[in-house]
Amino acid sequence: MDAALARAWVTGIASAVRDRADELTQLDAAIGDGDHGVNLRRGFDAVVAALESAETPAAGDVLVKTGTTLVSKVGGASGPLYGSAFRAMGKALQQESSVAQALEAALEAVQKLGKAVPGDKTMVDALAPAVEAYSAAPGDEAAAARAAAAAAADGMRATVPLQARKGRASYLGERSIGHQDPGATSTALIFEALAAVTG
Ligand code: ADP
Ligand code: MG
Ligand code: MG
Repeated sequence: MDAALARAWVTGIASAVRDRADELTQLDAAIGDGDHGVNLRRGFDAVVAALESAETPAAGDVLVKTGTTLVSKVGGASGPLYGSAFRAMGKALQQESSVAQALEAALEAVQKLGKAVPGDKTMVDALAPAVEAYSAAPGDEAAAARAAAAAAADGMRATVPLQARKGRASYLGERSIGHQDPGATSTALIFEALAAVTG
């Protein structure tokens, strides 16, 4: 991944989040506080603005800037979680890690901060299988990104029958069952955007 690809990815996320902010917010209205789309739109719009003026010679620099901006601009659970994920991924790339290793670092950062495991009905339910699929995919970055996007989408759909054990949705107990997790949905969108720009 080079700086141009990282920028294209993040810009693609920003535009997908703008297109789908209402959907993300409606999912969050059902089992949370109805701000997930608004949170991410504010965050990724700020990222695009920050990247316009930032010196980011390498992909790692782009992703660290993305993460730092998300942490500072997005309140709620998702800002620090996505912020840490992008920052960890960027730092790994700055240290010459592969994209697969950088994605593993992102997952680790999310789990370290949020303490969620797969099955808790969170973004981890999309992120963990996506990272695994990316690492397992043989060959080029494009095939790996497509495999990751498919796995993230499967993980997202699999959150519907789960009862939330982390985040605001967990306050609902059994009433969280039957709804798709908003954070897993935005994670699937993030990998869709990666697949769209890779290749
Ligand atoms: P908030 O719940 O603070 O309003 P958002 O609505 O932006 O924040 O994000 C909600 C999403 O954050 C959830 O759908 C879930 O996927 C994710 N989330 C919440 N808590 C955690 C956690 N501890 N670990 C991982 N993801 C979490
Ligand atoms: Mg919310
Ligand atoms: Mg909130």
